[in-house]
Amino acid sequence: MKIAVLKETADGERRVAATPETIKKFIALGADVAVEAGAGVLASVDDEAMKGAGATVSSRADVLKDADAVLAVQGPPPGDLGAAKPGALVVAALNPFGERQRVDAYAAAGVEALAMEFMPRITRAQSMDILSSQANLAGYKAVLDAASEYGRAFPMMMTAAGTISAARVFIMGVGVAGLQAIATARRLGAVVSATDVRAATKEQIESLGAKAIFVESVAGIEGEGAGGYATEMSDEYKKAQAELVSGHIAKQDIVITTALIPGRPAPRLISDAQLATMKPGSVIVDLAVEQGGNVEGAVAGEIVERHGVRVVGHRNVPSRLAADTSALYARNLYNFLSAFWDAEAKRVVLPDDDEIVQGVRLTKDGKVVSERLLAS
Ligand code: NAD
Repeated sequence: MKIAVLKETADGERRVAATPETIKKFIALGADVAVEAGAGVLASVDDEAMKGAGATVSSRADVLKDADAVLAVQGPPPGDLGAAKPGALVVAALNPFGERQRVDAYAAAGVEALAMEFMPRITRAQSMDILSSQANLAGYKAVLDAASEYGRAFPMMMTAAGTISAARVFIMGVGVAGLQAIATARRLGAVVSATDVRAATKEQIESLGAKAIFVESVAGIEGEGAGGYATEMSDEYKKAQAELVSGHIAKQDIVITTALIPGRPAPRLISDAQLATMKPGSVIVDLAVEQGGNVEGAVAGEIVERHGVRVVGHRNVPSRLAADTSALYARNLYNFLSAFWDAEAKRVVLPDDDEIVQGVRLTKDGKVVSERLLAS
């Protein structure tokens, strides 16, 4: 089985889908790995290291020729895949809802597109879950980005010249990114509070030493919600949440928003009027900016100043820590493919009746087959 590893073509994408560690493991299974020249350079992995692990390194055309599987971080242009074997696996974060037409193009190209972000949130698939591995580091980086934009310190400091008070940090949306943001802000010495619509997060927030700020008057989501995800909330809930947030954020120095609803635009959590109540010099980091933004006025790819508050809207935050996020992403891909490795056939065999396969498979035999995508 020939596994091709592509150099990313999307603007600002620094990650790579395989590392020397995972290349060695694929080769140990019995696969051949071909890496496009320069694929890992922006993630601090040079071509020599790829070769040292046993991969061949060559041009994009050579790497794709007769490939059985194509690994990438973002979905490769379907037009590039013509030289791969018919039915080749394309394994990447394919952004199926956002790039619906490209999914059709993968079907038309005769490849089997596998969207890693559709990995079911089940125990067996935890080690294959790219959303978690990438969001975890994004939550960490969001706090560092906030700290570097903030003109004050995070911890309380008692100095000979007087005392500096601790920063107040509020995390909105306590999934994987939010939990890591809480932990990181706490480590930096901030006073941290957090909110979510899922009641299950309350205990998690408190166990990390932060204060839980919750709407109590209207029911939120008990337990984990469908598939562990949040859904769009009622208008009554949104109103109660807006009132709660208004009272709280005026006292905060840093707000980090991470709230997402799969397949829908990000919920709006902070209005311009609410933002205006914050102190000058405060910082907001909107991690959902590319999905429509949690914060009114946040701009993807920019840091904007509104009412004296800096609103940070970096795109593709995981790519800002490309060495570590690539290492974890590459392991997620290896864990997925190796789980379906057929030792006799020396290739990956994906059974139609497997929950993981059914979750991630978007196209097969020229058709779009993902129920989740077809139902949207
Ligand atoms: P996500 O990125 O989809 O959303 C981030 C957070 O925003 C979520 O906690 C969500 O509840 C919250 N949110 C949505 N709308 C909101 C609103 N209006 N106001 C405030 N908060 C709002 O979430 P995620 O990080 O992908 O995690 C989703 C769930 O999956 C969590 O329950 C997580 O524990 C679970 N999970 C399970 C596994 C597993 O078992 N394999 C792995 C990872 C995550």
